[in-house]
Amino acid sequence: MTTDLVIGIDLGTSNSLLCLWRNGRSELVPNRFGDFLTPSVVGVDDAGNMLVGQPAKARLQSHPHLTAASFKRHMGSETTVKLGAQSFRAEELSAILLRQLKEDAENALGQPVSCAVITVPAYFNDVQRRAVKTAGELAGLEVKRLLNEPTAASLAFGLLNNQQQKYLTFDLGGGTFDVSIIDMFDGVVEVRSSSGDVFLGGDDFNAAILRWMQQQFPELNQAEGALYASLTQLAERLKCDLTQSSPATAELEWQDKRWQWELSEAKFAEICSELIARLQRPVSQALQDARFTLDQLDHVLLVGGATRMPLIRQTVARLFGRFPRHDLHPDQAVALGAGVQAGMVMEDSAVEDVILTDVMPYSLGVATMREQHGRQEAGFFLPLIERNTFLPVSMEKTLCTAVDNQTLVEVEIYQGEGRRVKDNIQLGDIKLEVPARKAGEVSIDVRFTYTLDGILEVECRTSASDTISRLVIENVPGQMSAEEIQQSLQRLASLKQHPRDRPENRRVLTRCNELYRFLLGEERQQIDAALSAFEQLLETQDVRQIADFRQHLEQMLSRYDNWTQ
Ligand code: ADP
Ligand code: MG
Repeated sequence: MTTDLVIGIDLGTSNSLLCLWRNGRSELVPNRFGDFLTPSVVGVDDAGNMLVGQPAKARLQSHPHLTAASFKRHMGSETTVKLGAQSFRAEELSAILLRQLKEDAENALGQPVSCAVITVPAYFNDVQRRAVKTAGELAGLEVKRLLNEPTAASLAFGLLNNQQQKYLTFDLGGGTFDVSIIDMFDGVVEVRSSSGDVFLGGDDFNAAILRWMQQQFPELNQAEGALYASLTQLAERLKCDLTQSSPATAELEWQDKRWQWELSEAKFAEICSELIARLQRPVSQALQDARFTLDQLDHVLLVGGATRMPLIRQTVARLFGRFPRHDLHPDQAVALGAGVQAGMVMEDSAVEDVILTDVMPYSLGVATMREQHGRQEAGFFLPLIERNTFLPVSMEKTLCTAVDNQTLVEVEIYQGEGRRVKDNIQLGDIKLEVPARKAGEVSIDVRFTYTLDGILEVECRTSASDTISRLVIENVPGQMSAEEIQQSLQRLASLKQHPRDRPENRRVLTRCNELYRFLLGEERQQIDAALSAFEQLLETQDVRQIADFRQHLEQMLSRYDNWTQ
């Protein structure tokens, strides 16, 4: 087993979790508040300190302009979110969150953590995947593997039920919907196909409820700021209350006005009918690509917080003609799988026989010209790797020059299923110089290699020269350049952390709490008093006084060094 500790991270739209492979099993690691779920929320407090997780989420409603949530939805785009005076990209907000998770893991495990396996929606495209790697890098984590979320859940489920079976994971989280079909046999977890929708999740059901709430009281259409934040929160509460019982009610008071709502399960189904309809296509596509029929599936496995909704469970039952299984905790399945993968990366003997094969969920290719109605027309998509091919994969195709005497060939790389490239996502391009010849006389070999992380490498070679051009995906809208990453690293390093969250203070707090548990009587009271004083001091954020007091505490703690550690 290699010595570097690798942690598994489920970096979710709503919540993130940490997991570790230990003693032959995947174990969730609590954050600094003792919780497994860390809300994926980042904010700044009035003194300009960064807040991460629960303390940030608690201010979402009262300080919407100083708090950012659901930023995973903007991964791989140039969208920035303003927090007070500063603007952040989704990579940076994710980095701030990851940095906190890394520290929480170090705090809980008592050793440095520098490597991670991070899960991503199977349907994340190349740019979004690179953005997650960048976020890891910004947080000081070497990202050993990106693992598709439904694959992670399957890995956790597969190890739990080590038998031959075929199943479908249905993962509906806060912002994304992922479907994968898995074939399990003899320790092999084989992903046969993946499909999904990166803009469909629990957040969209909240938005549908919010629209309905505003329809009931049109004067709320102009709501903004804190009122809008309250409405959004109420919408989510209504949705979660409906999971318990129908109808669900909500009430809001604002500046002498009062509004009330009552939402029944039937009404909810009606206002969400479009969202429900969108669940069908990825399911059908995954089945078709895996060449499976419904009755060949042994189970349907539910993952993701949004699958708690009775409406979703009924929809799944209707789509599949059977009741789904929820053997795994819907919030934890993905993280537990990331932990298994972390064990595999560390080459732990308990998982050395597990083999995981995954697929690439979308087609990759280049733009070509075609003869249409007697003339050359540009902009057609030529797939090199078709969706749901097993990974890793490497494929080559030969293209030719299309125009007489052309001296420059531009190979444009696209991802998607559209017949014309304008309907697909452009990932980058490579420009090659070629000698001027007749059309078709110079050929260009294009090789696509797709790694296990789901990241594409492209190589081009012309028949006219021996040099190989490799694609470094740069200047693609949405991707950070090396220079921007450097600038961002400096910027993130200078962000203030609340003294309570600084590692040196957390260590002392943890040690004091341990000793409190260990000691009795007067000594226990002494620790208790010191701890209370320190906690109070941390809230004042007076850096000098905190440092002095911490030194004093460290001296006091050193007396017990030989006792408990
Ligand atoms: P992600 O992986 O995207 O972070 P999660 O799997 O944690 O997301 O799911 C978060 C979503 O689940 C949110 O939209 C949340 O509102 C929803 N959710 C959580 N609990 C419930 C519940 N009891 N009923 C309905 N929806 C829920
Ligand atoms: Mg998730």
